[in-house]
Amino acid sequence: MDERTLFHKIRDREIPAAVVFEDDEVMAFKDIHPKAATHLLFIAKKDRDFVPSIADLTEATAHVPLVLIRKAQKFAKEQGIDGYKLTFHVGKGGGQEVFYLHLHFLSEQKVKES
Ligand code: 5GP
Repeated sequence: MDERTLFHKIRDREIPAAVVFEDDEVMAFKDIHPKAATHLLFIAKKDRDFVPSIADLTEATAHVPLVLIRKAQKFAKEQGIDGYKLTFHVGKGGGQEVFYLHLHFLSEQKVKES
């Protein structure tokens, strides 16, 4: 249960990823198999915010999805992206493969390269 997931290793930069946004709370990186022109994954960085899935949310972690959505919203605004989809896959039956809560951000508008 306490095993580190792929996204722990991306967070800790043990596995490389194309990081497009990072602050103290959240990291966003490009999905390796993009399903849109822009396909990003937003994760919470702090260990105390770790939760495997929406299905596992508790009072202590209930704020995490909102934090991810808020950061995605701000990121989109900064990037001038005004049309996008936000998705959580929940559980194996919901298509979830990585059990580290993440928000999919998909848009046909592209991120500005820095
Ligand atoms: P899930 O299906 O769990 O909601 O989403 C996991 C996502 O992680 C998938 O869209 C998949 O393409 C992406 N992914 C899997 N392995 C890697 C990887 O090594 N690097 C990156 N950047 N994305 C990955």
